[in-house]
Order: sequence, then C-alpha cells, then structure tokens
Amino acid sequence: MRKPIIAGNWKLNKSPKETAEFVAGVKGKLADPAKVEAVIGAPAVDLQTLLDAAKGTDLKVASENSYFEDAGAYTGETSPKVLAEMGVDYGIIGHSERRGYFHETDEDINKKAHALLRNGVTPIICCGESLETRQAGKVAEWVSGQVKAALKGLTAGQVGSLIIAYEPIWAIGTGETASPEQAQEVCKLIRQTVADLYDQKTADSLRIQYGGSMKPANVKELMAQPDIDGGLVGGASLQPDSFLELVHYQD
Ligand code: PGA
Repeated sequence: MRKPIIAGNWKLNKSPKETAEFVAGVKGKLADPAKVEAVIGAPAVDLQTLLDAAKGTDLKVASENSYFEDAGAYTGETSPKVLAEMGVDYGIIGHSERRGYFHETDEDINKKAHALLRNGVTPIICCGESLETRQAGKVAEWVSGQVKAALKGLTAGQVGSLIIAYEPIWAIGTGETASPEQAQEVCKLIRQTVADLYDQKTADSLRIQYGGSMKPANVKELMAQPDIDGGLVGGASLQPDSFLELVHYQD
C-alpha cells in the first residue's frame, strides 16, 4: 500500500521567524503518521530553522531545489550532500517555476534526481503541461516525455521509492484546480509510463502527487482517485489551519 503524502511547497514565502511560528501552530496537531505523511518544502535558507522546529514532531522536511553536484565551484547552489547531512527527507526538483523562470531542462532534472538519490534524499519530481499543450491535445505526449527524461538511468528500486508530482501549470496558483477526473487521467498515465519503462511492481510502489490549487475544499475528491497518492500544495500550505485540514483529509 502506498502511504498518502501531503507536502507543502512554500516557494519564496516565509522567513525563519515565520517558519518557526508555522511549526508551533501545527505541533501536536498533525495526522497519525501511520496514515499520512506531512511534509513542508521550504527555501534553502529556512531549512535549518524548519528542521530544528520540526524535531520531535512528525513533520518531514523538503528542499525546493538542489544542484546536481555535491560540491565545487558552483556559486549560490544548494548541495544535495549537505541536504542529506542536515537531515532533509525530500527534495523537490523540476517545479514548473524552476523550469520556466530558471531555465531548468529535463537533463538538469534527471541529473538532480540522480544526485539526490545518491545522497539518500527522496526526490519529488514535478511534471505538468501548460494550457497551450492541453489545448493542443498533447498532454499525454508531453507529460510522459518529461517523466521518461527525468527517470533516465535510474534503477527500478530507485524509481519505486520516489515521488512524481503532476502539476498542470494552468492550475498552479490560479485557483483553477484540475477536476479529479482530469488529474486522475494524467496520474494514471504517469503510472503506466513507469510500468512500461520498468515493471508493474515499480509502478505500483511509486507515489504520485497532484498539485495545482489543492485546498481543503477539494482535497478529499482528489485524494479519492486511485492513482493520486498525495498533494504538492502551494498557497494552501502557508497557514497552519489550512495545512492541518489538508493532512487531516481522511478524518
Ligand atoms: P498552488 O501551488 O497550490 O498554490 O497552486 C502548487 C505548486 O506550485 O506546487
């Protein structure tokens, strides 16, 4: 059975002080960790504060980006080796904002996946189409292409342990959520792509999140879909109350 995973993606929205306040607000109120994993993804400069605040709680921690080299002359980058040493559990890579504003390519994302796994940090690999691609009827081709490129060279064991987040770009931060059927259709396609590339067992163990205006009002319906195992949540993860509602969606 795949354990549901609700992960916040704070983007560039919180200071260390606000990070500590948020964790104080969810402390002791998270869902049973046997039923759902709760994760917060924070900017690199907030990660140590988040790790310190989350100590002794069931909250897990994700980075929002990391580089594909462990060390060297790469001014300004975040080392996956350092993330592992700090105790960061997950590494979000390939978010559409990184692909769009910071020109990350499928090849970069593939190298970042290898680098995280080499260091023992679980990748959350984002994929998803633009509105233009959807209107052109090319969602399947686009998303399966992104998935294949991101997983290149990884073993079945590695792929079975990681997470893919399907985030249609037109649904991110717009308030316009993909319908549960639209989201399920693509998440199913992602699982089928992994089954074709590897095998059914790997596809069945991989977890797939939906992201794009997930909120307390739609989390239940989305999580009820057979191929959706979690959410990657921006706006609705910023306040303790709505984050708690999301992780308690089963209650
Ligand atoms: P949103 O962001 O929930 O604010 O739409 C999701 C994301 O970008 O991961």
